[in-house]
Amino acid sequence: MVRVFLDHVTKIFKGEKKRVVAVDDVTLEVPDGTFMGLLGPSGCGKTTTLRIIAGLETPTKGKVYFDEEEVTDWEPRKRNVAMVFQFPVLYPTITVYENIALPLRAAKEPESEIRKKVKEIAELMGITEILNEKPIKLDVNSKQKISLAKALIRDPSVFILDEPLTVLDPKARIELRTKLKKIQLGMKKTMIYVTHDQTESLTLAEKVAVMNAGKILQYDTPEALYDNPANTFVGWFIGNPGMNLIECDVVEENGKLYLSTEGGFRYDISFIADELKKLAQPKTVVLGIRPEFVEVGSGPLKAKCVHAEYVGNRIILHLESYDRTLKAKTPITVRARPGDTLRIDFVKERIKLFDPKTGNALL
Ligand code: ADP
Ligand code: MG
Repeated sequence: MVRVFLDHVTKIFKGEKKRVVAVDDVTLEVPDGTFMGLLGPSGCGKTTTLRIIAGLETPTKGKVYFDEEEVTDWEPRKRNVAMVFQFPVLYPTITVYENIALPLRAAKEPESEIRKKVKEIAELMGITEILNEKPIKLDVNSKQKISLAKALIRDPSVFILDEPLTVLDPKARIELRTKLKKIQLGMKKTMIYVTHDQTESLTLAEKVAVMNAGKILQYDTPEALYDNPANTFVGWFIGNPGMNLIECDVVEENGKLYLSTEGGFRYDISFIADELKKLAQPKTVVLGIRPEFVEVGSGPLKAKCVHAEYVGNRIILHLESYDRTLKAKTPITVRARPGDTLRIDFVKERIKLFDPKTGNALL
């Protein structure tokens, strides 16, 4: 296994009409043996980043390293990367066994070794029963298990998986997600796992890079992304629903400090006055508070419930508080119906403040 390092990598596609900056000055290190998640909305540059690592695309600028060696100009074959794509790629008319055995045959491994390894990997993926069938007859869930087996049977320098669970049905998706995690923990392989699904990324990966518009916005543990988003995009993108982001003025009155809006939203933040003063006390900020940390029942703010969504053991309340809207994620014991006027508060130690211009975290 290797450490993968992207050093200021940019990829620009020049079409006839427009120029697309698919990857914009990305610097990223995936330490040897790490399960890394690359997470971001559709079109943000994830696949292009993977293809650059695999050698299927050449960066416009920047360098790619495997360990200390620069591989930017290496052929894909020489890089020894195993890739699994969103849609399974198999030979439909040879058996599952032969499909999985292909990479080993290409490497001219002895037949006895091939038999042993295929058996092992088939057991691991739970596909022993279908080894003699042909993929053409199988459903997409089985086909993707075979694609994964085919990648895992090799001993590549790095595994890259591009939304491998997206086409599966929900049950198979959870089953394979658990399986992949176990496999990675057992093998300690360098894996780069791309998805637009935060649950997949946050449950599987040790470290997750959140990408938007070609840039890596934050590269951190799942806990840190949730607790301390570096900017408003990460706050909003991570979490279900994402962080409430409320632009407010910062006003001082009678020795107290408030977040305030023209419409009458007013929240005392004197408890962080000292920290804000150290930042030359901005005039406006974006208040970030996760819906889980909006408390309903009592508090200084009035809010009208406009919609209540039941999600399992929780309710998501859509609220209008003066001239601002926000969401609260509460236990189902909180009985609120559309039209009700409620009182709300925020869990103080969970309040985040962001710069309205850059979106970057202030505190
Ligand atoms: P993601 O995998 O995150 O959905 P991609 O890496 O596939 O994003 O694409 C990033 C951007 O680059 C998109 O705007 C996409 O349309 C563009 N793009 C990707 N591949 C090409 C290509 N071969 N030619 C031109 N534009 C491309
Ligand atoms: Mg993609």
